[in-house]
Amino acid sequence: MQFSEVILQWYAENGRALPWRESADPYKIWVSEIILQQTRVAQGMDYYRRFVRAFPTVEALAEADEDEVMHQWQGLGYYSRARNLHAAARQVVARGAFPDTLDEVRRLKGVGDYTAAAICSFAFGLPVAVVDGNVYRVLSRYFALATPIDTSAGKKAFAELAAELLPKDADRVADYNQALMDFGALQCVPATPHCETCPLADSCGARGEQRVADFPVKSHRTQVKERHFVYIDVVTPEGRWLHRRGAGDIWQGLYEVPLLEFDHAPSLQEVQAHPFVRQQLPEGGVWTQVARQRKHVLTHRVLWADCYRLRYDFPVALPPNHIAVPREDLPRYALPRLLTLLLTDN
Ligand code: SF4
Repeated sequence: MQFSEVILQWYAENGRALPWRESADPYKIWVSEIILQQTRVAQGMDYYRRFVRAFPTVEALAEADEDEVMHQWQGLGYYSRARNLHAAARQVVARGAFPDTLDEVRRLKGVGDYTAAAICSFAFGLPVAVVDGNVYRVLSRYFALATPIDTSAGKKAFAELAAELLPKDADRVADYNQALMDFGALQCVPATPHCETCPLADSCGARGEQRVADFPVKSHRTQVKERHFVYIDVVTPEGRWLHRRGAGDIWQGLYEVPLLEFDHAPSLQEVQAHPFVRQQLPEGGVWTQVARQRKHVLTHRVLWADCYRLRYDFPVALPPNHIAVPREDLPRYALPRLLTLLLTDN
């Protein structure tokens, strides 16, 4: 039996029932793909349902204001995904209809090769291969392909191989693409693939060579960077101080309490000697430490966060670009998950 036939047969017995698979609406497929870019399926499902309930059509998303969109995305991380979705929804509405060719879909903000292929395959039935991390893993193992997947030569080689393997029957291509991704997610999983029960085991190159753990090959590992954050939760009679994060760093567009960054874990004395504290936070407040060295892991970054609460029982002038938010209004602001945890735990 051909590779694609085996995969399709496996899918008929083992495929996942996912809410976005019930729809051929390109908008919903697109939202699901963007959510799943950096989010596990189990977590992504709830967010997907909430997001399409809040914005059921591309027009509804285009009309929404940015704070509303960020609020729905709160907790998912990688907020540039939400901003790009929002901007691209406006692109779609401006052009009058959802694009339906690979090139045009690819031109939407935040849509890369993978997402464009997924939308074109699942919504429009175009005969294109959808190659995600699962597919790289399955193909590299099955064909024992040692070309590093994070190089342009590797990407080209895998894209060509994936295209060659597509079923000849165009009506089956979308199912096959879903099937191969599920196969990687459930059968040929990263650390402990289920080779004993795999229908491809007899012809699998990596298994034959007893080198399953060597695939897929990567040219280098990305270095993890550490950052040290100190949040100062300033509470005055007017409310809690918040400001909106600017461009060029993580969590753009979300709100946060005043944040200082250091290249090490600082003492309270070092925090109090910081120019922001000396210039904006008058004496007379009561400092309490509410979190120390809380670890928060993002892709390629480890954040270590301290958090102090600084209470004033008299009004304090707000620094530029800050607002004072009464306690009951706080849920209206989208905060990074780390900060939400720090504030709600304490
Ligand atoms: S035999 Fe193992 S490594 Fe090969 S495709 Fe099957 S699960 Fe993956």
